[in-house]
Amino acid sequence: MSKPAPRVVEVVESFRITPNMQRIVLSGPSLEGFPETCPGAYIKLLFDLNGDPVVKPNKDKPVAMRTYTINSFDAQKAQMTIDMVVHVKEGVTGPAAAWALSAKEGDKLTIAGPGSSKSLAENYDWVLFAGDMTALPSIRNYLKALPSDARGVAVIAIEHEADAISLEKPSKVSIHWVPKGESSLSDAIKRIDWQQGTPAAWVACEFSQMRKIRSWLKDDKQVPHGQVYISSYWREGRSEDQHKIDKRQDVEAFAQQIA
Ligand SMILES: Cc1cc2nc3c(=O)[nH]c(=O)nc-3n(C[C@H](O)[C@H](O)[C@H](O)COP(=O)(O)OP(=O)(O)OC[C@H]3O[C@@H](n4cnc5c(N)ncnc54)[C@H](O)[C@@H]3O)c2cc1C
Repeated sequence: MSKPAPRVVEVVESFRITPNMQRIVLSGPSLEGFPETCPGAYIKLLFDLNGDPVVKPNKDKPVAMRTYTINSFDAQKAQMTIDMVVHVKEGVTGPAAAWALSAKEGDKLTIAGPGSSKSLAENYDWVLFAGDMTALPSIRNYLKALPSDARGVAVIAIEHEADAISLEKPSKVSIHWVPKGESSLSDAIKRIDWQQGTPAAWVACEFSQMRKIRSWLKDDKQVPHGQVYISSYWREGRSEDQHKIDKRQDVEAFAQQIA
């Protein structure tokens, strides 16, 4: 995403939708005229280097950015919702998850964006979605936008079975929830009934899981590269800034493999 103009927004509501997901509703005059976006579009939340939200953007001060999918945007109310995984491991978390845990009405934050990523392949016989909770807002919006006769499978890894949510989707798309401890996402996806015809695959999850799924789609299932969107949304043990570097190196190495 190239230097999008920052917008200062205010928290209107913050509430837990499932045990590990916090919904934040953002609003403010700066959201008036916010562009229309497609499923998978995202914003960046800006934090200072102490992990505090930026409330007065200053282009000369370094910031840490954290990426979140636009869950919904209501142009009439100039309101946006984002769903944030509230991860904490051994008492340690990141600036975005920490902010999600404490955000309350009236709190301010600077966002940048929107940015968009490659979408679902245009032509397909069936759809295959796979993701963890960080990809759930995107998968939800893609499922909602599918034609009613679409068929396929969505495999979604969740922290706890209570993190499963109701999804609006075509009747011939089945959902497989995979609670933590039951299976990894990369193992669960191998157990689906592979359908007839060409799939459009959309995958977003943790880095090492993404690499396993990418190999399986390419080598075992021989899905053409153009039919696949696959991305890591975070990496275990690495902050988003560190993950961004790993991701760039991985994408370059993979591009050489398939060249
Ligand atoms: C295009 C895109 C869209 C995204 N959309 C969403 C979204 O809608 N909702 C959402 O929740 N996330 C989303 N993410 C993922 C989110 O940006 C990362 O999880 C981010 O690293 C969280 O920032 P943080 O400040 O909480 O943690 P960081 O400071 O980045 O990391 C601190 C530590 O927490 C760990 N960590 C980070 N994320 C998680 C996690 N999800 N689970 C467990 N441990 C974690 C890291 O490995 C690291 O050890 C998206 C990412 C991308 C690239």
